[in-house]
Amino acid sequence: MATHLKRIFDAEAYETSPVQSWWEDSAPPLSFEAPALDGEAKADVVIIGAGYTGLSAALELVHRHGMDVVVLDAARPGWGASGRNGGFCCFGGSKFGADELIATFGADGARDVVRAQVEAIDTVDKRIDDLKLDVERHGRGEVLFVHRAKFVGGIKDEAKIYREALGVDAQYWENERCREAGLPGDLWHGGLYLPHGFGLHPMKYLRGLAETSRKAGVRIHGGSEVREVHETADGVIVSTSQGRVKGRAALFATNGYLAENLPEWFAGRYMPVLSNIIVTRPLSQQERAAHGWTGDMICADTRALLHYFRVLPDGRMMFGGRGGTATDPASLEAMHRRLRHAFDRMFPAWTQVETTHFWSGFVCLSSNRTAFIGRIPQSERSFASLAYWGGGVSMGSWMGERAGEMIAASLTRSSATKDFRFRSTIPQAFQRPTPRFPFAGFRRMGLRLAYAMFTLRDEYL
Ligand SMILES: Cc1cc2nc3c(=O)[nH]c(=O)nc-3n(C[C@H](O)[C@H](O)[C@H](O)COP(=O)(O)OP(=O)(O)OC[C@H]3O[C@@H](n4cnc5c(N)ncnc54)[C@H](O)[C@@H]3O)c2cc1C
Repeated sequence: MATHLKRIFDAEAYETSPVQSWWEDSAPPLSFEAPALDGEAKADVVIIGAGYTGLSAALELVHRHGMDVVVLDAARPGWGASGRNGGFCCFGGSKFGADELIATFGADGARDVVRAQVEAIDTVDKRIDDLKLDVERHGRGEVLFVHRAKFVGGIKDEAKIYREALGVDAQYWENERCREAGLPGDLWHGGLYLPHGFGLHPMKYLRGLAETSRKAGVRIHGGSEVREVHETADGVIVSTSQGRVKGRAALFATNGYLAENLPEWFAGRYMPVLSNIIVTRPLSQQERAAHGWTGDMICADTRALLHYFRVLPDGRMMFGGRGGTATDPASLEAMHRRLRHAFDRMFPAWTQVETTHFWSGFVCLSSNRTAFIGRIPQSERSFASLAYWGGGVSMGSWMGERAGEMIAASLTRSSATKDFRFRSTIPQAFQRPTPRFPFAGFRRMGLRLAYAMFTLRDEYL
């Protein structure tokens, strides 16, 4: 029984106080309270985590399968990465480049991954329309800037493989073409343009999903950290410190906020990694003109410790970066300074433009470089969907829906067919049980070493 949850990072990272993000400040609050679970409850499905994955699964289960759903979150809807991210609705769920995808999964398997990635982006777009969510979207397509000349050849090959083998009309853009798109920069050597993806307000999207779920009858409880999931002959009992829910199945939708000992099977099989964001005050037209930055596409660079950035609809610049291995205040402050330094280097005309917000949160990585969705090995009634490799806006939404479908099928099919593997919709790449990391107990230490190597590779080697 897991009464005390073991986590990989320092306790501060899991404190449930509000996150001081721009999204938090600019999204209307939820129209309802999400009270803590108190006492006994019953449901068909109990979902742990009220982010994109959990709420997408809940909506699928309620709307399409008529099930009764309880969602439990340790903090509140959107407290995790879903309320903190960069709002890049882009390719997610995998760390493989186009050539590696083909080498690992074969041409058909690779195309299937890309098909799911495109479908995931379209799912979010369509969902915002269908549910009439008040979420601003902007910019169409994504540009990945080449930050060192020696990577240009690789990026041109990547574009070709996407076009010729994977059905994505990717292009290598020279700097001049980037400039025409309103994305000029002196530091890069052209970029990889992908025609899919857009930017959105992540918290408005999240709260829209929460409002819709609640209206559809989903019971959402905040302040309800799940401490134990016990499987019985005919269901699950999911316990918090103040209550418990008896259900027929459970879904872990906890991504980078997963605990090491709940569920036990995942111990050592995932890696939370910090991603960090600064947002500036709105830039005037004149200030934007100083860089000729008129484009609103979502952008990133080719660093392993990547930077990702975009202009927001009110003229603020959002600039994010991976890195940092500690969440104590001094380490976060150092990360804040590093990020601002990288921003100033990239946009020297804006060094006087103040940062108004800085925050961090966890994305989730896996040792086999892909997301995982499915029944948790060694369990009968517990499922999980996680490890989107920093691409959970689209993938969490799509995989959450798939997880809902999968659970509904498992509850309605005969026991002979309940392991139906959804071959038709979920790429096999995402159904592989996640192996343990080598030397799993030293993952954070390993991360420090990896980051030192990435920095060398990114900047010097
Ligand atoms: C700074 C940052 C920038 C990012 N930028 C992008 C981006 O631009 N585009 C993109 O696609 N992705 C981005 N990501 C990643 C993306 O946000 C995530 O992949 C996605 O939000 C995951 O959604 P989720 O619902 O699976 O998990 P989360 O949103 O992380 O939610 C997990 C929830 O589980 C709850 N939880 C955990 N354990 C328990 C428990 N025991 N009991 C109860 N509740 C529990 C937590 O409280 C949390 O609310 C970014 C992430 C961060 C942190």
